[in-house]
Amino acid sequence: MQKAGTGQAGDDGGGLKWLYLDMNAFFASCEQQMRPELRRRPLIVVPVRSDYTCAIAASAEAKALGIKTGTQVKLAKQMCPGLAIVDARPDLYVDIHHRILDVVDTVMPVEKVCSIDEVACLLMGPQRHEAAARALGHRIQKRILERIGECLTASIGIAPSRMLAKTAADMMKPLGMTVLRMDHLPGPLLGLEVDDFPGIGAAMKGRLFKAGISEVRQLWHLSPSRMRQLWGGIGGDNFWYALHGVDPPETVTERHSISHSHVLASELRPVEAARPVARRLTVKCGTRLRRMGLRCGGLHLSIRGTASGRAQAERVFPATSDTFRLLEAIDDMWHQCVGALNQPRIQKVSVTCLRMIPADTPPDLFGYSPAVQEDGRHMKLLKALDGLNERFGKDRVSIGPRPKLHDFVGAKIAFNRVPEVEEFWE
Ligand SMILES: [Mg+2]
Repeated sequence: MQKAGTGQAGDDGGGLKWLYLDMNAFFASCEQQMRPELRRRPLIVVPVRSDYTCAIAASAEAKALGIKTGTQVKLAKQMCPGLAIVDARPDLYVDIHHRILDVVDTVMPVEKVCSIDEVACLLMGPQRHEAAARALGHRIQKRILERIGECLTASIGIAPSRMLAKTAADMMKPLGMTVLRMDHLPGPLLGLEVDDFPGIGAAMKGRLFKAGISEVRQLWHLSPSRMRQLWGGIGGDNFWYALHGVDPPETVTERHSISHSHVLASELRPVEAARPVARRLTVKCGTRLRRMGLRCGGLHLSIRGTASGRAQAERVFPATSDTFRLLEAIDDMWHQCVGALNQPRIQKVSVTCLRMIPADTPPDLFGYSPAVQEDGRHMKLLKALDGLNERFGKDRVSIGPRPKLHDFVGAKIAFNRVPEVEEFWE
């Protein structure tokens, strides 16, 4: 029953709307879970074996020594001589990611998967009371520990906007629970640094500093139009609303997503005929990444069967815009999805780029994995193909067999596997 005087049903005045879950030191925790000999030890996870790459995760024990995501391996070794250095196992992390989604789903539906270790859930009706929301958070934390493993600790943030809920989840770690009530704002935010908010990276922090804004208190009192001016666009308005507890429209935060999907014509529906479509969509993603000056650190594949039902998979990898790397990931996921779907005919294929970063991102600036994996020869070839297509028209030269997505005949370079780049020059 709704009480008189409260805003929406279930609201106790806190305006709580989102429960945000952020796994603590996720990749490192996965490794400690699977390999008990690594527990209670400082460890980092690396994308490749090199002193010059950076950690993509650090265990709590490593963090206590000042080592964090983005710390160069060489420096990390100096900071901690006994440091365990572990090769990343993306398949393992994706598997545990899906198990976490399943566990959260036993408590409440997942509204949005924000990254491999972060999900957001919407609080409904009576769940919006602070005590009820906290109880849900505790239940999720406990079930993940019980059902997946004792090393997999999660921090929870509960707040009126998704941005504030993510901020809250970051305020207490590990196994934290932070609630930011609308009627207490900005109080609990005032102890933060301006770049503790998602969306304020080093560059934005610098811009704010130049404008004389170095404290959250000052940030809080800016007007939406001043923020628009500082951000150089609508992003500023959106940040203002999110900071003050109102979710901005989704379209703005999603505008940089790259996703291609295709509903298959009848002759492309048999599984083997559908596979080149997935590869073709992946090639398009790669072209767009390069055109937009971006790299992605993951791909998501989703296929829908003609007898309904859907299978999906995700891979994370060092950031790249190298189509050949993307194709490797898709080929790998294709077999997994086809096996899981277990249907002879496919109706729709979708490929989405995840974890996108600007191609010129310096290490650790945005908190993403700074590791990049691109083969110089591949990139040279791909840029040449991009140039040909730009000059002679879309899709004139393509990689791999071209499924008949459109009525078009053009030159093609055919192969069914990831080729050696030399094959192109023969
Ligand atoms: Mg995390």
